[in-house]
Amino acid sequence: MANKTPFTSITAFCANCGSILPLLQEFGSVKCYSCKSVYGAEKFNNIKFKYTIHFNTVSTVENENILNMDNPEGPVVERKCPKCGNDRMSYATLQLRSADEGQTVFYTCTSCKYKETENS
Ligand SMILES: [Zn+2]
Ligand SMILES: [Zn+2]
Repeated sequence: MANKTPFTSITAFCANCGSILPLLQEFGSVKCYSCKSVYGAEKFNNIKFKYTIHFNTVSTVENENILNMDNPEGPVVERKCPKCGNDRMSYATLQLRSADEGQTVFYTCTSCKYKETENS
């Protein structure tokens, strides 16, 4: 059996008979299925920590960036608003994907708040 992969650290073996022990439950101890040896939960603290760390990473970065563009205070350029004809629009840039793919420019009419985007 390979024992170099990180996953082997979540598996424990019975010190008595060498059987694979069941995974630790939330509370209590672990009992060997083969020889009925019982191991206290404290023996598995380290293992349990490594085992649960995977489930704590949640990523919600993308949405935040876009929501922030609702209130652009960027520089104003001469650009005609297609909606109201005003010739001043403020703009802000946002890198949506990787650096190679250019950026998106957000224009906002200073008069009617009409928004348009342009990919550079
Ligand atoms: Zn055993
Ligand atoms: Zn406008």
